[in-house]
Amino acid sequence: MVAVKEKGMETKKGMLAQTQDVVQDALGKLGYNDAMFELMKEPVRMLTVRIPVRMDNGEINVFTGYRAQHNDAVGPTKGGIRFHPEINEEEVKALSMWMTLKCGIVDVPYGGGKGGIVCDPRTMSFAELERLSRGYVRAISQVVGPTKDIPAPDVFANSQVMAWMMDEYSQIREFDSPGFITGKPVVLGGSHGRETATANGVAICIEEAAKKKEINLEQAKIIIQGFGNAGGYLAKILSDKGAKIIGISDAYAALYDENGLDIDYLLDKRDSFGTVTNLFAHTITNKELLERECDILVPAAVSRQITDENAHEIKAKVVVEAANGPTTIEATQILHERGILIVPDVLASSGGVTVSYFEWVQNNLGYYWPEEEVAEKLRDKVVKAFHTVLDTAEKHQVDPRLAAYMVGVRKTAEAARFRGWV
Ligand code: GLU
Repeated sequence: MVAVKEKGMETKKGMLAQTQDVVQDALGKLGYNDAMFELMKEPVRMLTVRIPVRMDNGEINVFTGYRAQHNDAVGPTKGGIRFHPEINEEEVKALSMWMTLKCGIVDVPYGGGKGGIVCDPRTMSFAELERLSRGYVRAISQVVGPTKDIPAPDVFANSQVMAWMMDEYSQIREFDSPGFITGKPVVLGGSHGRETATANGVAICIEEAAKKKEINLEQAKIIIQGFGNAGGYLAKILSDKGAKIIGISDAYAALYDENGLDIDYLLDKRDSFGTVTNLFAHTITNKELLERECDILVPAAVSRQITDENAHEIKAKVVVEAANGPTTIEATQILHERGILIVPDVLASSGGVTVSYFEWVQNNLGYYWPEEEVAEKLRDKVVKAFHTVLDTAEKHQVDPRLAAYMVGVRKTAEAARFRGWV
């Protein structure tokens, strides 16, 4: 037990350190001094809270929660809340830095933030989850708000959780505050297209990457690791466009069929946590899935899936990172040297926060846009971001991840300099 815990902590710590290394490189390439890196290497604010929750059996469980605000030079901080048994302080910090990068890449007026609650929603009742969500908002209410720090969904959170949180915040503040949180149900001020926004952003990146690598999407073989919010919707969008999804997976196993899987059937069968492989006798492991022959590989699950141990075995022509941090820095180097195009996480998964921004704008205006308008605005932002990152990679002769970090940190660094902080 202890060994597993220690190993897990090592992994997460590696994630923050690796992110810091690339941010330092990116700032160096842009000509910023060490003081800028000192400002950027950690969140400007980090809150840890204890949340007592009465469970259905009458007992009190005390949960740990975090909220990191990486940098607010550009504007309020923004980012999701992750419900996960293994989330920890280091990971929340790294994730908040990634949000700064994502916001910079798609050019929305926020700095990065991130929240986390150490819990396992898969083992909790609906009522317990509601009490935990409301307790978290009460615990962090002083540091968040529509012009301060705007939360959103992340792993194992959804629009219902956002609705409870918005209601709790509005009750504390004593006025309706839809702009406090994004990813809400449409009837409560949510935006059309927010639920599918991350997947749509990934799909747009896949289209652009396919053009660049001269891959015909209608004949392309695609493997998607993960079948949750991002992976599930992405599989649907791509298969509707005629692409062949030959592999998918959940947290437990993977399904593979070189003739293509029936995505509608699988979506119909999966549970609300994206689990579906338990219904099948013939499965392969997640590790095997990543190494199968395909044109486009989309890691859309958890971090550290492609490492220096398996990067040489990856057979895809393009790797599009829908998850946060699925490829280590060592593996990025290996894939890049092998001529595999990497569309990095901070670019590929930026569709969610982009439509969150649109949601917040609509809340501030009190005027709501039709779905087509949201989709068009999302496409404009993601296509522009994709080409800005790849052009930067070419111009500076760096891999796409470093290029994305350069594009991502630039706005925050410039804003911090104009404010006279550094
Ligand atoms: N949790 C999502 C992300 O990591 C969305 C954040 C947001 O919409 O603010 O990008």
